[in-house]
Amino acid sequence: MPVIPALQGDVLRRQDPEVAELLLGELARQSTTLQLTAAENFTSPAVLAALGSPLANKYAEGYPGGRHHGGCEFVDAAERLAVRRATELFGAEHANVQAHSGSSAVLAAYAALLRPGDTVLALGLSYGGHLTHGSPANFSGRWFDFVGYGVDAESGLVDHAQVRTLARTRRPKAIVCGSIACPRHIDYAFFREIADEVGAYLIADAAHPIGLVAGGAAPSPVPYADVVCATTHKVLRGPRGGMLLCGSELAERVDRAVFPFTQGGAQMHTVAAKAVAFGEAATPAFGAYAHQVVANARMLAAGLAAEGLAVTTGGTDTHLITADPAPLGVEGRAARGRLAAAGMVLDCCALPHTDARGLRLGTAAITTQGMGQEEMALIAVLFGKVLRGEADVARAREDVRELTGAFPPYPG
Ligand SMILES: *Cc1c(COP(=O)(O)O)cnc(C)c1O
Repeated sequence: MPVIPALQGDVLRRQDPEVAELLLGELARQSTTLQLTAAENFTSPAVLAALGSPLANKYAEGYPGGRHHGGCEFVDAAERLAVRRATELFGAEHANVQAHSGSSAVLAAYAALLRPGDTVLALGLSYGGHLTHGSPANFSGRWFDFVGYGVDAESGLVDHAQVRTLARTRRPKAIVCGSIACPRHIDYAFFREIADEVGAYLIADAAHPIGLVAGGAAPSPVPYADVVCATTHKVLRGPRGGMLLCGSELAERVDRAVFPFTQGGAQMHTVAAKAVAFGEAATPAFGAYAHQVVANARMLAAGLAAEGLAVTTGGTDTHLITADPAPLGVEGRAARGRLAAAGMVLDCCALPHTDARGLRLGTAAITTQGMGQEEMALIAVLFGKVLRGEADVARAREDVRELTGAFPPYPG
């Protein structure tokens, strides 16, 4: 497998066979099962190469040209490149590429704009809000006064009327739009209008759709939000990490909120890998990929609906699908277990307005592997068979092995 830089030359296997075995085992798992977890993807060998590079050795607290350490000339250039590529890709005035993760990016956005105790309006956790949108188990719920809006029980779409009412009565300092489970586009113009009306900041947590935005397959929050938080490892297909985009007037506050307020030294190997990913995302090939991700998700959602699953909102605009398997006589957690046994890996999620759990899946990773609409139809049929208990699990596992064998994520 010469294409996996970390395994090149067999260094790891010779020095530490125990860890090498785990790495190879994980590679085999990723290559022989279907990665349907909505937040996952396969990074390119070039991204993996940057991650496995000596930039991992470098300390670089601060920002290019103003570091607290010497010897930063190359990592400074790498960070400037990542920032320039991100601002060009998303049409933003400023980008911070140091946030260690999506959650760190959200923490930094709050730190830049809010004080502890401030009221924040965000999608409630049972409707698809992220942990950082006010969970009592997270800093957000502990340090801020979160008010949750919901989704309409019928349509499954964000309840705009409720957002408007809560904004007017609770006068939040910030409104957060963005979700871990929303399959539809977010109406950023609507959120901007409400934020302006009540004098609130608008924070878009675009961790999921930012890769579709990069590829021109989803509307951009950049023209509307004061601060956009995102991950770089979901549909965007870069290294695990976070980033923030904002206008120049908030640039210094956002940068200081990342370092020194919430983080220490930046991870320069990851910053360089982000630069590689932004470069890839700027190509026509990535635009075609992003549109294929959505076409595949629409096809898969339609297939799942045809198999009898109750697909939330009746379909999707993005890479993400949520569905209730209950009509097939199986509840969400059991469904996830059965599918996993057959080699189809995905998440459970909350189903709004019920106590039941549903399934959450996405097409980012399988589309990177080269699968198209034909394969989506096959996968939907397999779901139906496995969930109805018609298919022998070992047989379904073989079907999955055959399918993934034809689309290796790391050929060679
Ligand atoms: C994935 C996600 C995050 C967090 O990203 P991590 O890198 O796991 O910290 C934050 N917000 C939303 C909406 C997400 O989907």
